[in-house]
Amino acid sequence: MQSWTIRTSSEEETIQAGMDLARHLDGVVLLSGDLGAGKTTLVRGIVAAIEGAQPDEVASPTFTLIHDYGAGVFHVDLYRLDRASQIDTLGLEEIFAQARLVLIEWGEKLGRLTPAQRTEIFMEPCGDNQRLIRVLELEESDAAGIVST
Ligand code: ADP
Ligand code: MG
Repeated sequence: MQSWTIRTSSEEETIQAGMDLARHLDGVVLLSGDLGAGKTTLVRGIVAAIEGAQPDEVASPTFTLIHDYGAGVFHVDLYRLDRASQIDTLGLEEIFAQARLVLIEWGEKLGRLTPAQRTEIFMEPCGDNQRLIRVLELEESDAAGIVST
């Protein structure tokens, strides 16, 4: 398990933080934090730093649940989904199996689809334009209750 904490003081600094984080990220990345915490802003930075990935013209994927940015990069927003049955029908397992990077806002809603190996990013305001960004990298072996046979 590895963790980092980043503090930013503006939207631009959060975009830069995303760009810096990008090369450390792969697989499934869950982003949590209230509306306006800066999840989409951080994602913009991450995607901007990945060669070949191209966000579509819509800045937030809230209306479209899953965006394919190319280069194996996907952006998912679960904000509007509250029932496990809705989340189960998105085909996320298939995306997890093939993607290089899947960035999921409101990732705490994933429920049973949450992979043991994942990165969790928590964002919270801490002052006017300040944001606290905590990044936690979880390995398969960190999962509590998994008994190896
Ligand atoms: P979320 O996806 O978590 O709902 P957004 O990234 O869409 O949040 O919006 C974050 C909002 O907060 C934007 O309006 C942005 O300009 C503002 N903001 C102010 N300070 C920051 C900061 N340090 N980092 C990110 N966003 C910030
Ligand atoms: Mg958002």
